Amino acid sequence: NAAKLELHQAPDEILGLAQTFNEMLLRLSASWEQQRQFVGNVSHELRTPLTVVLGYLQSLLRRGTNFSDYQKQALETAIGETERTIRMLEDLLDLARADSGNLHFSVNPVVLNTLVAEVAAMSQTVSNREITLVSTDQEVVASADQNRLQQVLINLVDNAIKYSSPEQPVDLVLEKTEKHAIIHICDGGIGISLAHQNRIFERFYRVDESMTRSRDGTGLGLAIAKSLIEGMEGRITLRSKPGEGSVFTIILPIWNSQL
Ligand code: ADP
Repeated sequence: NAAKLELHQAPDEILGLAQTFNEMLLRLSASWEQQRQFVGNVSHELRTPLTVVLGYLQSLLRRGTNFSDYQKQALETAIGETERTIRMLEDLLDLARADSGNLHFSVNPVVLNTLVAEVAAMSQTVSNREITLVSTDQEVVASADQNRLQQVLINLVDNAIKYSSPEQPVDLVLEKTEKHAIIHICDGGIGISLAHQNRIFERFYRVDESMTRSRDGTGLGLAIAKSLIEGMEGRITLRSKPGEGSVFTIILPIWNSQL
């Protein structure tokens, strides 16, 4: 996002340098744009055939009768990995759309008390982990895209569960200030060191420790979360300490403040 140099009065050498700099900048942004389009196109082209492969694998598993344990396990692994790759391609497509401004948001009043409680209940059922909901008594109505916000919340709660052990707490906290709705997703898990915290929202970035490597994932979840939350005029921040846990915070505008 470097800005163009606009010099009006300067020695010729400096003006020449500024012009060269601006030309380089132009080429660099063109090449970024090409790279983004390339990733978007490749994701799109790969998704269709992979969906066909997935369909055949699933049907094979459903219809097959005399499979050995090995064959069944091989098919299940192939299905799992194909599903994961398709999810990754869909994430990449979302990011490509966000980059090109083609990810559309339908921003409306969203009652967070309900949404947060639903996400907590759903994640609790799926994971079999206890999720504590700490919510203000006030009604908190944010200006947000309900579906995309739900997607982000599920993702962050998933991470909180994934990067902590079953006896460690996972809390969802809802707060309200005059202008902002605030949701904290807290876990008492492995935490993230300061060096990694700065990079954790980058695409494909995963903390390279055996603790996280062994867990299923693509490293795209937080990049998408950030892009979605920023797309609805919100912010996402992180506080964490290795060995103590992490708190991801989503800050959204209150619906009234828009009037
Ligand atoms: P994924 O979980 O698929 O690897 P994410 O983008 O969601 O990808 O997260 C990126 C990385 O950030 C993870 O691989 C993990 O190293 C780290 N991380 C995310 N959430 C947490 C958390 N709650 N506690 C500790 N580490 C986390």
